[in-house]
Amino acid sequence: MTFAAAENRYSEMPYRRTGKSGLKLPALSLGLWHNFGHERPLDTQRGILRRAFDLGVTHFDLANNYGPPPGSAETNFGRIFAEDFRPYRDEMIISSKAGYDMWAGPYGDFGSRKYLLSSLDASLGRLGLDYVDIFYSHRPDPETPIEETMGALATAVQSGKALYAGISNYSPEQTVAAYAALAEHKIPLLIHQPRYSMFDRHIEEGLFPVLDRLGMGSIVFSPLAQGLLTDRYLGGTVPADSRVATSRFLNENSLSETYLERARALNTIAADRGQTLAQLAVTWILRQPQVTSVLVGASSIGQLEQTVAALEAPALDADEIASIEPYAVH
Ligand code: NDP
Repeated sequence: MTFAAAENRYSEMPYRRTGKSGLKLPALSLGLWHNFGHERPLDTQRGILRRAFDLGVTHFDLANNYGPPPGSAETNFGRIFAEDFRPYRDEMIISSKAGYDMWAGPYGDFGSRKYLLSSLDASLGRLGLDYVDIFYSHRPDPETPIEETMGALATAVQSGKALYAGISNYSPEQTVAAYAALAEHKIPLLIHQPRYSMFDRHIEEGLFPVLDRLGMGSIVFSPLAQGLLTDRYLGGTVPADSRVATSRFLNENSLSETYLERARALNTIAADRGQTLAQLAVTWILRQPQVTSVLVGASSIGQLEQTVAALEAPALDADEIASIEPYAVH
């Protein structure tokens, strides 16, 4: 059936300005790293994407290698976009990236101009788009000069194939260097995409002050620690359809006694606030002014709805933040 987006889709979702730019992102964005490859039914994917858009989620984050197999998330998104979302293109922020291993040989990995620009063309082909809104260098390249990698992002923007440029997984020092290299082309570095959650706080000390100083935004990935900061594993068992059971990026080693103690304690704090653990994890991140958007994943519509409902909760007060502190550690 033809998709007609909900008329009230902008009534609840807050939109936050990305650093000092003109671009606003939804407080919660949806990522397609998992759950959108060829191994998942297209109708399940379509349902999640439609519901997200109806809830005011205007930003969908992809990368060349998302799947499995690599490229399939862009292909599937492109198909659903063509069938459902094309009339809404101007209401959507669609991103892609290049930086991890994508194709054989010396030109399908890291940060050369050769790789980034050919990968962007390939992504646009799979997505069926003329341009992406944000194009990222997915990771720093220790061997390629930062001027070359940022020069490729500048070309992407100048050619109209990307509207904005971003970086992901760069250290604070690499971020400063990338910002300066892109500024040579008179293009601002819009956004950083780092990992951040109650279980990974490495960006608080080094990166947050740099983002403040440069006027950059951030969109933080794996905010639910890939599902560890949800009730998915609290019973001590591994659901057959869960990421621990189905993905090579998370395994049972993560489900230690220490993990279970911390997650259960956080779950109790969440319950005392009338929230789920996933919702508390989102509320806790959104208190940081440097975070523009929380980039979640979802394997079902129900998960997405539950996570988005975190936005209805009151902010954490100082006592609550202090009570979370002993458990919000690596
Ligand atoms: P999350 O930490 O949000 O984990 C998502 C997983 O958590 C889901 O697949 C699901 O697991 C579980 N989950 C989500 N909501 C709920 C809920 N309400 N209740 C119970 N379980 C829930 O994020 P991801 O790790 O998926 O990363 C999000 C996005 O960030 C990616 O799609 C990608 O766009 C980006 N990313 C970027 C990276 C980079 O290097 N730049 C690296 C990694 C991610 P299950 O499947 O078990 O149901």
